Amino acid sequence: MAEASLIQDATKLLADSRAAVAFTGAGLSTPSGIPDFRSPETGLWARLEAAGADETQAGTIQAFGRDPQTFYERMKPLFQKIVSAEPNPAHYALAELEAKGIIQVVITQNADMLQQRAGSKNVIEVHGSLAEATCIQCYKITPFRPLLDQFLSDGIVPRCKECGGVMKPNIILTGEQLPVQAILAAKQAIRRADLLLIAGTSLAGGPATALVDSAYLQGSKLILVNQTPTLLDNVAEIVIRDDVSIALPAVVKVLQRKGER
Ligand code: ZN
Repeated sequence: MAEASLIQDATKLLADSRAAVAFTGAGLSTPSGIPDFRSPETGLWARLEAAGADETQAGTIQAFGRDPQTFYERMKPLFQKIVSAEPNPAHYALAELEAKGIIQVVITQNADMLQQRAGSKNVIEVHGSLAEATCIQCYKITPFRPLLDQFLSDGIVPRCKECGGVMKPNIILTGEQLPVQAILAAKQAIRRADLLLIAGTSLAGGPATALVDSAYLQGSKLILVNQTPTLLDNVAEIVIRDDVSIALPAVVKVLQRKGER
């Protein structure tokens, strides 16, 4: 459990902020049982690469185009976890902070939709989303969940109803551009922010990390909540080295106590 004083300080910064924005990563969903699929050791890409004949290419968009069956089969355990996962107290705490008008928007690197399911209204998904899938031939977009349910039951790669092309979930694979609209919206939110609450990410490597750098460079204050060190620990106002599903609800609790006074 993080020191109570750190939680108090974080709460004060949030309460005093004019426009706070949350930035989240895989660590926000690990308490929901979803593994960090980009982490180098345990993540999906590691498993894809370990199992793949062409080691460096397995998690790429090119590999998906060549062999979607293999992609879907290797994603299956993760898909199953996501389908059965529920939002955890960290997701609910962020939704609560938004409802209180303290957090304006949640920028997330996660594609699992748990933040929206927890009640957050303004969520920007900078690494794509499993909400929808796109045909790789005619670019038709449809909801992904029915396709996923069908794949999980019959094991057949989902095809486009219009042209027969393979349907790809709208998560960003290596070699793909980040979603332009989402990145623009995230940049805009960060430009307006005077405080960034960064939770469940070590900020290592992800392409969206540059967003956080720009916040720091423009002078926004940073609160970091993560179990392991992050690249910006030394410039953050507050670093809380704790489980997000414990620390974030603790912040909400302090806010509520203050509100009652
Ligand atoms: Zn199509």
